[in-house]
Amino acid sequence: MSSIPKYLANFASLFPEEKNIMSEIRNKDLYPSGQLKIDWVRAHMPLLNGLEADFSKTKPFKGLKVSLSVHMEAKTAYLCQVLAAGGAEMYATGCNPLSTQDDVAAALDRSGVNVFALHGATPQEYEHCLRKVLEIGPNIIIDDGGDLVNLMLTEFRDLISGVIGGCEETTTGILRLRRLNAAKELPFPMMLVNDAQCKHFFDNRYGTGQSVWNGINRATNLIVAGKTVVVAGYGWCGKGVSMRAKGLGAKVIVTEIDPVKAIEAVMDGFQVMTMKEAAPKGDLFVTVTGCDDVITAEHFAIMKDGAILCNAGHFDCEVDVAYLEKSAVKTSPARENIKAYTMEDGKTFYVIAEGRLVNLAAGDGHPAEIMDMSFAIQALSAKYLADHRGQERGKGDMLLNVPEEIDRAVAFRKLAAWGISIDKLTEKQRLYLYGE
Ligand code: NAD
Ligand code: SAH
Repeated sequence: MSSIPKYLANFASLFPEEKNIMSEIRNKDLYPSGQLKIDWVRAHMPLLNGLEADFSKTKPFKGLKVSLSVHMEAKTAYLCQVLAAGGAEMYATGCNPLSTQDDVAAALDRSGVNVFALHGATPQEYEHCLRKVLEIGPNIIIDDGGDLVNLMLTEFRDLISGVIGGCEETTTGILRLRRLNAAKELPFPMMLVNDAQCKHFFDNRYGTGQSVWNGINRATNLIVAGKTVVVAGYGWCGKGVSMRAKGLGAKVIVTEIDPVKAIEAVMDGFQVMTMKEAAPKGDLFVTVTGCDDVITAEHFAIMKDGAILCNAGHFDCEVDVAYLEKSAVKTSPARENIKAYTMEDGKTFYVIAEGRLVNLAAGDGHPAEIMDMSFAIQALSAKYLADHRGQERGKGDMLLNVPEEIDRAVAFRKLAAWGISIDKLTEKQRLYLYGE
């Protein structure tokens, strides 16, 4: 233990040097700053603190291998440690090459988790890391976006029989699962974590709302007040991004394809129009639709010189960065995380973080208090799978909603952590509302 710096001595138990860890990370020596980041979030994630204490006693994951692909960032590292405290043999990788923080990966590795993650991984390296967490034969899969499940079903079919089930973190991952399930191609149960109320109500709306602006502000260091911000998509994330843009003083335009969401945006006080109408008006564009080709050549052609573009939806295809790469007459780095594209007509556009998730590629993602709720649902859903192993297979429908008790338990625990009590129905009120 002599190699542990003095100021981390209280965390000596997190440094089990004797464990046979087989991580592949950039640099193991980066761990001190990663450890500080984990310590910081640990102090702001009371639900995970409680689960860590419970799991340490009850060991719900004893004998189980858990493979996880989630943004390799401090809150995810803490989730891994909570599952490990519950007895899981943990194998962790990222779910986006730009959101991995190498110092966090080093600290997580040092705490006894097998970590395969590299910031700025090439597509080949990224897939290699996914393979590493699958080739060990996981019993539980924790996925964010569906890449891990997809690879399991294509390259590791011989290991499927060992999988009890998995949990999916985000909207797009669930869309992919729904397609697999409808085609009867999903061989194990997957819990729809994103669909839990305590996930998307808070993570997608307030988490994305804050962290997207944090990413944009860090990357650009420009004023938002007075700018025209175009938000594509008025779903859970888009509502949060628009609401916070308004709070920062922007004039906000929303684009949508769903008439009901469009009306909601109008009534929330935003201008709604097509992307073609919005393109020449916007100073800053944020896509958050989960769709493809939201901002393309026809829009670039009519945009203002100097427009700034970024994406907060799942994949890097919402802003057609491939077109800019192909058509620009000149490209150059404009700032850390911003690339300038000068087009034939002389206009220059600025793309943040390669059009990948701006809040995670140019920031630390959602705040700790938000991920505390999302990851409490993840941890309790993984426990649900472990507790019900053997019972959920072969029922045709492999999509499992997070049980309402888990959602409510997370909400009550969060309120308790904030010291907030709420009223309880009296028996008379219960009868008045619901009858006998
Ligand atoms: P959602 O389904 O609630 O909202 C998406 C909205 O986009 C819908 O209202 C839909 O009608 C609209 N839309 C679809 N195609 C469009 C198009 N071409 N033009 C304009 N609008 C269009 O989903 P959500 O929960 O808000 O998630 C959106 C995306 O963000 C998903 O890919 C999700 O995985 C991702 N996500 C990112 C973060 C993050 O941290 N950056 C967090 C949560 C979810
Ligand atoms: N693989 C996709 C992932 C979609 S990201 C991609 O990178 O392209 C969307 C998910 O990231 C959200 O559902 C949210 O829960 C999660 N997220 C946001 N901030 C996070 C953070 N700080 N740490 C871990 N996950 C985070």
